[in-house]
Amino acid sequence: MGPLVIPHSQFLIPNFCQGGIRMNDVANRFAAKVFNLSIMRQRLPKGTYKEMLRCIHEGKRMELGTANIVANAMKDWAIEQGATHFTHWFQPMTGITAEKHDSFISPDGTGGGSAPSGIIMEFSGKELVRGESDASSFPSGGLRSTFEARGYTAWDPTSYAFIKDTVLYIPTAFCSYGGEALDMKTPLLRSMEAISRQALRVLKLFGYDGPAPITTVGSEQEYFLVDQGIVDAREDLLLTGRTLLGAKPPKGQELDDHYYGIIKPRVQAFMQELNDELWELGILAKTEHNEVAPAQHELAPIFTTANIAADHNQLTMELMQKIAHRHGMVCLLHEKPFSWVNGSGKHDNWSIATRDGVNLLDPGTTPFENAQFLLFLCAVIQAVDDYQDLLRISVATAGNDHRLGANEAPPAVVSMFLGDELSEVLEAIENDAPYGGHDREQLKIGVDVLPRFPKDATDRNRTSPFAFTGNKFEFRSPGASQSIAKPNIVINTAVAESLRQFADELEGAEDFTQALHDLIQRTIKAHKRILFNGNGYDNHWPQEAERRGLMNLRTTPEALAHLLDEKNVKLFESHGVFSAAELRSRYEILLESYVKILHIEAQTLMDMVGRNILPAVSTFSAKLCENARVKGEVTGVACGYEKARCKEISRLTDEIYALCSTLGEALHHADAAEDTLERAMRYKDEVVAAMAALRAACDSCEAMTPSGEWPYPSMIDILYSVK
Ligand code: ADP
Ligand code: MG
Repeated sequence: MGPLVIPHSQFLIPNFCQGGIRMNDVANRFAAKVFNLSIMRQRLPKGTYKEMLRCIHEGKRMELGTANIVANAMKDWAIEQGATHFTHWFQPMTGITAEKHDSFISPDGTGGGSAPSGIIMEFSGKELVRGESDASSFPSGGLRSTFEARGYTAWDPTSYAFIKDTVLYIPTAFCSYGGEALDMKTPLLRSMEAISRQALRVLKLFGYDGPAPITTVGSEQEYFLVDQGIVDAREDLLLTGRTLLGAKPPKGQELDDHYYGIIKPRVQAFMQELNDELWELGILAKTEHNEVAPAQHELAPIFTTANIAADHNQLTMELMQKIAHRHGMVCLLHEKPFSWVNGSGKHDNWSIATRDGVNLLDPGTTPFENAQFLLFLCAVIQAVDDYQDLLRISVATAGNDHRLGANEAPPAVVSMFLGDELSEVLEAIENDAPYGGHDREQLKIGVDVLPRFPKDATDRNRTSPFAFTGNKFEFRSPGASQSIAKPNIVINTAVAESLRQFADELEGAEDFTQALHDLIQRTIKAHKRILFNGNGYDNHWPQEAERRGLMNLRTTPEALAHLLDEKNVKLFESHGVFSAAELRSRYEILLESYVKILHIEAQTLMDMVGRNILPAVSTFSAKLCENARVKGEVTGVACGYEKARCKEISRLTDEIYALCSTLGEALHHADAAEDTLERAMRYKDEVVAAMAALRAACDSCEAMTPSGEWPYPSMIDILYSVK
């Protein structure tokens, strides 16, 4: 039987088509709100279109004259779609996106010195290409001094403009006036350029003479849906996106009955609307299902270039939240909204491909393709080993600290999974030993054909942070709420560095095949410690990892302490991804953000306890006493239950009261630290511990208090709120 070919298959997959975009419309409506190449080809003069292509594919600068033509065409198209405003859309280091809307209106010049009698709709090339913004309220980590508070946004033509809510969105990079990156996109684009440059050098050695390859990314997004009314009644969910307390519900995810389970009608309606809107924005939403925890779901798009994938993931998160509200729900993207059940992550599927779609991490079928594949594979192995700390840092947030290493997500130790077949091949190459297949032939790189690795067989280990899944790597540590730019900046740059070293060595080789063999063998020997096919949740793994010399950076401050290590600064500087000053600013921002998040959480917890929980519990214990008194007076019975409960609750309330003070003192002590790293360390050691102790006492108390008396919805109310 031949392959099953379904035209436009990726657009024909909605399961539920009762409203919104109907089945037959999907292909037509797909990317309807995107100023993409096909629209450009229709609307731009031929020469302009060609210049636009060069600008997108070759990074050529655009002349102002051309930009004027593009801007005008963009505006006409946008107005036809109902747009009245445009915005330079950017991604500051808050991790979310930012925008400021400007209308297209301009006086029509009829008024002379007085008020104009009319307006025209205008949008110039200058406005398209560059925007100024007073950006002093965005985090800059000390890069932007107060006397130079201006930032500017620069058009990124490699990510298409689109329309959302009557506004034309123009994806842009955001920099200081000195040109320092203040955002996520700028370094991502730089890192993509770095890896493209080095990968091209390597490919040329294999006889390739096409354009530079590009990194591809598909990011699977996990999220929770909770009823809006429940969230409104929980200060912690409203302010911090997670529950700071809540007694363990009798049922969580033990029965595995939610994973891939039937999708509830309310969630289905949400998913349908989400798909419709994502498709209109050209986002390739593909797969959706229920995840492990109750109320948890996942959406996976079809992969695209790393830059567009990052933009699309931001839009996806934004639309998830917005559309959930329309359905009376809240979409929680926090990494750990609830104890007792799994948190949410975001798998970052990464590969690198030529412009015509040849995946360089596909093993291929010929000795030649195999050799090239092995070299790229080794580049990734070396990169992950050399820059374990940076990979860990790229996913280090206060929220994600709750997941990594908690046996629900990969451990904090970074390692790589290759699967048995591929590991055996590498072992054979390492030892110049025969490969263990049927005829036990010696494997000669560039001469012999590798065995085929069935894709399924490579993807069984769910506990590995960095897994080879047949033709791509899946980095499983990123947190659900974070921008995927960060991990991809690190992967791109670290792999670029491996490829640079490889190209340096191979370009000068006399016997290419021999040099290739030696290099691959040497790389495997030097970096095999990072390969681990075992169970990442196993208690012995951290010890084994330590024995191998791998890092175990359990928390965000411990990880961030390595960001400015000399080798890391050198890596980013030498590939033009971050200057030392830019890197230092990120370090400050990340530490500050960690501290701020924990500060808000601690304050929220103290507020909930002080203003609502203690008074409520005190009232309840008084009721118990009153009941005991009345019952005793009337009947003379002992009232054992009332008295014992009251004593227990009173003991706990005193404990809670004391623990609240301890938390306050811990906060005070942490905030007093001068140095940002020291402050973050105190938050990690003292504030986190004080919060955990306070929470435990509150949870015990909740378990003894009737739901009608407890001031907040319970974990059962929350997890099972969406019917
Ligand atoms: P798995 O079953 O391993 O999760 P899928 O085929 O379902 O694999 O893909 C998971 C994600 O990986 C999807 O978002 C998909 O688009 C993405 N992906 C697949 N191939 C690539 C690639 N070459 N580069 C980047 N991402 C990819
Ligand atoms: Mg996956």
